[in-house]
Amino acid sequence: MPGLLGIEELARPEIEAILERARFFQPLQRQQQKRMDLLNGRMIVNLFFEASTRTRVSFEIAAKRLGADTVSITASGSSVSKGESLVDTLNTLAAMRPDAIVMRHAASGAPHFLARYLDIPIINAGDGTHEHPTQALLDARTILDQRPTLEKLRVAIIGDLAHSRVARSNIHLLSKFGASIVLCGPATLLPREMAQIAPGVDLTYDIREAVKHADVVMMLRVQLERQHEPSAPAGEYFGQYGLRLEHLALTKPDAIVMHPGPMNRGQEIASDVADSQRSVILNQVENGIAVRMAVLEKVLS
Ligand code: ASP
Repeated sequence: MPGLLGIEELARPEIEAILERARFFQPLQRQQQKRMDLLNGRMIVNLFFEASTRTRVSFEIAAKRLGADTVSITASGSSVSKGESLVDTLNTLAAMRPDAIVMRHAASGAPHFLARYLDIPIINAGDGTHEHPTQALLDARTILDQRPTLEKLRVAIIGDLAHSRVARSNIHLLSKFGASIVLCGPATLLPREMAQIAPGVDLTYDIREAVKHADVVMMLRVQLERQHEPSAPAGEYFGQYGLRLEHLALTKPDAIVMHPGPMNRGQEIASDVADSQRSVILNQVENGIAVRMAVLEKVLS
């Protein structure tokens, strides 16, 4: 069933169509009347096996703004905590005939595995360290609100690359549009193979070099929940890889700062940077709804 599992398998025109449709939905978010009723009577299940604030709420709002009904389930409140297997849980939900399942899971590939068993479209809301496709789409929408094209932009992605599904999805998307991407982080969190994910990817361990002439600086959270051993002594990380105001002097003058959230202020990003004029972090959150509306509409129609 056609769902949305990752950016890797999407062609550039498909991405462009989603971003264009999201642009159509953007003004709706600031109107008094926010519903469009394009998916009236449809039912979407949100199944989250991992913590989420932005993604879960934003999928739910997006579905409601399209007139669909939603049910949200978290692993802790479901029979998964009683030992039910993933396939059994999904088959049980599928038997209730939802029109789509939005799912987040700690295992990379979990939605791809289930998509082979179920005849209901699955939308990947983040699978382990693999992909987070709607995050990359909303990031692209946010960049395109500020720049006419993604082509030839210099995008620095900084932080815990090794564990970041956000980074992987963004690398695939930006590369399909001919952006030049520089990855930066401590060697423990930036395996050399990451430069091979897609064309146009460079790697540096020096944050000053990464941000130099950047159009976009994308910061990543240190994903302690996925690290078996600490990657850097506490306190040292910010000194070496935390984004500070002084770094913004090295970027293009109108460069934007992004973060998928949740942010750890004082760890990967200084508070004054997160709250600066350059930050588009809350624009990312706002765009999440329009982009997810576009994705739900595409998958369900
Ligand atoms: N919210 C994003 C994700 O689920 C980024 C993060 O957790 O750091 O991957």
